Amino acid sequence: MSLSSPFPVHRHDVLILGAGGAGLRAALEIGEAADVAVISKVFPTRSHTGAAQGGVAAAIGNVDEDSWEHHMFDTVKGGDYLGDQDAIEVLCREAPETVYELEHMGVPFSRLEDGRISQRAFGGHSAVRACHAADRTGHVILQTLYEHCLRKKVRFYQEFFVISLIKEDGRIQGLAAWDILKGGIHVFHAKAVLLATGGYGRTYKTTSNALANTGDGMAMAYEAGVPLEDMEFVQFHPTGIYKMGILITEAARGEGGILINRNGERFMERYAPSMKDIAPRDVVSRAIYTEIRNRMGIDGKDYVYLDLRHLGKKKILEKLPEIHSFVQTYLGIDAVREPVPVQPTCHYAMGGIPTDVNGRVVVDDKETLFPGLYAAGECACVSVHGANRLGCNSLLDILVFGKRAGEKIIEEIRGIGVSEPSDKTAQEVRLRVEDLLEGSGNETAVGIRERLQEMMMVRCSVFRNEKLLKEAESELKKLKLRYAAVQIMDHGRICNTDLLEALELGSLLSLAETIVAGALARTESRGSHFREDFPVRDDAGFLKHTLARKGPEGPLVSYKPVRITRYQPMERTY
Ligand SMILES: Cc1cc2nc3c(=O)[nH]c(=O)nc-3n(C[C@H](O)[C@H](O)[C@H](O)COP(=O)(O)OP(=O)(O)OC[C@H]3O[C@@H](n4cnc5c(N)ncnc54)[C@H](O)[C@@H]3O)c2cc1C
Repeated sequence: MSLSSPFPVHRHDVLILGAGGAGLRAALEIGEAADVAVISKVFPTRSHTGAAQGGVAAAIGNVDEDSWEHHMFDTVKGGDYLGDQDAIEVLCREAPETVYELEHMGVPFSRLEDGRISQRAFGGHSAVRACHAADRTGHVILQTLYEHCLRKKVRFYQEFFVISLIKEDGRIQGLAAWDILKGGIHVFHAKAVLLATGGYGRTYKTTSNALANTGDGMAMAYEAGVPLEDMEFVQFHPTGIYKMGILITEAARGEGGILINRNGERFMERYAPSMKDIAPRDVVSRAIYTEIRNRMGIDGKDYVYLDLRHLGKKKILEKLPEIHSFVQTYLGIDAVREPVPVQPTCHYAMGGIPTDVNGRVVVDDKETLFPGLYAAGECACVSVHGANRLGCNSLLDILVFGKRAGEKIIEEIRGIGVSEPSDKTAQEVRLRVEDLLEGSGNETAVGIRERLQEMMMVRCSVFRNEKLLKEAESELKKLKLRYAAVQIMDHGRICNTDLLEALELGSLLSLAETIVAGALARTESRGSHFREDFPVRDDAGFLKHTLARKGPEGPLVSYKPVRITRYQPMERTY
C-alpha cells in the first residue's frame, strides 16, 4: 500500500494481464528471474484456453512424414497469404520443442500403441499433425501450466478486472483494476505489462467463446493509442451446436466425421474435392451457409448435420468423449446413433494488437515499439494466422509467443526501475466506475449488447457486402450513443456483475467498430473476410495488413506490408 495514494498500490517488475495459456506460459518463463504477477478477471484455470478441445499442431511426424516447412506452407496458404512469413517460420520451427516441453512438464498426451504422442488430422493441414489429449487438450495444458506457475511462486491476483493501462511519459507504467470480490480500484505499477487477454468472440450472437471473451485487452491498447491489426478477419468455426454455438471440435471431422445436407449428401466433396470435410474453416463455413441459402439445410432450416455414426461407438468414446457428452447434455442426442445439428459459430480473432516475434507491441509500418507494452496469445497479432487460422495453431501460438515474450521481457527490464506514475489514470477510472454505479441513464447494458451481437451476426459475419457494412457502421454509432446512457441495476460494490458487463460492453463496441471499418475498407475477399460484392482476392490492392487507429470520429484505417520470405502467393484451392 502506498501512503500517498488513496488507492491500494501494488508494485511488481512485470504484470501479466490474463491467465490463459499465453499469460501463464510467459509467467513461467519469467519465473524467478523477476517479480512477476498475473492478473485475471476469472479464476486462472477457468480461462478460455481450458476449453480447447482438438489439439496443438507440431510437425513431430509420429504418424505421417512431416517437416516444419510443410507446416509452414500449410499455415501460409491457410491464412490466404496474409500471414507474416518470418513469424510463421518461428511458429512452425519451434513447434516440436514446444510440444516436448509440455510432455516433460507432465501434460498427459494421448498415446500411440508404441507410447509416442498420438496425432490426428486437422483442417487445412496436409499431414497428420495435431498432438492431443483426447478432446480436452487445452484443459490439461492450462492445468499443467498453472501448477508449474504455483511451484515457481508466481503471484496471482485473481478476480481483478483490469479497466485501463497507465501510460505516462510515453511508456506503459502499470494498470488500474477493479477488485471484483471486495469492490474498489487498485493500482499496479510495473516495469513491463504483457497483455494476454484472449479473444472477443462475444461481439457476436453465436459464439464458441466463453462469457469472459470480450477483448478487453485489445480495447485497452486501442484506447492507449495502439492501432489494431487485421481486425476484419474473424473466424467462424463450421461446427457449433445448432442455436447454442457451443463448439464441436474439428477433430470430429479429423477422426472421420462428415457433413451432410438435407439429402444426406456429403456436400464438401463439391466445395473442396481433395480435402473435403477437413478443408480450412473459412472454406467449410462458407460451404455450409451456401447450402443453407440454397435450401439444402436440414428440413430447409439454417443448419446441417455432422455425422459421426460410421466411426462406431468405441472410437467416438475413446477419441471424442467430451463431444459425445456435450451433445448428450445439450441436445439429448447420442452421437453414436444420430447425426448432430450444427451451424457456423464465431470462434477466433485473427487480428489484434500488433507485435514483433518477441511479443513487443509495434505501432506502425516501421515497427516502432510502444515502450513497456507487450502482447501475446489471441489478443495479439504477430501475424501468424493471416486471414484465416488453421486448427491447432492457436494453442501453439500462445505457447511459442508467450514464452518468447517472457524471455524478451526479462532481457528488457534489466536496469529499469519501477516508476511511480501519478494517480491520474486511477482517478479517471474511479470516475468512470462511479458514473456507472450512480448514473441515472435509461439504457441497460444487456439491451445494447444483445442488439450489438445480433447486428454483427447479420451484417458482419461470414458473408459481407457494402450495404450491410454501412448499415452496421451507422447502427454502431447509435449503439455508442445509447451506451453513454447506460444505467446498471446493482449499485453494490461486491461481486457486481452488472458493472463488469457494462465495462465489457465498452470493449465490445470499440472492437466492433474496428472490425466493421476494416471490413468496409477491404474491397476484396481473402480468408475469413468474404465480400459478396468483391468475391476475388486482390493481391495488387490488398496484400497488406490493416491498421485501425482510434480517431476522434471512429477508427482511422491505414495499411502496412506483409512480410513474405519463402512462399509467393498462389491460387488457394483444396
Ligand atoms: C471452444 C474452443 C475450443 C478451442 N480449441 C482449440 C484447439 O483445439 N486448438 C487450438 O490450437 N486452439 C483452440 N482454440 C483457440 C484457443 O484455445 C485460444 O485462442 C487460446 O486458448 C487463447 O489463449 P489466451 O491465453 O490468448 O487467452 P485466454 O485463454 O482466453 O485467456 C484470457 C485471460 O485474460 C483474462 N482477462 C481478459 N480480460 C481481462 C480483464 N479486463 N481483466 C483481467 N483479466 C482479463 C481472463 O481472465 C483470462 O485469464 C479453441 C477456442 C475455443 C473457444
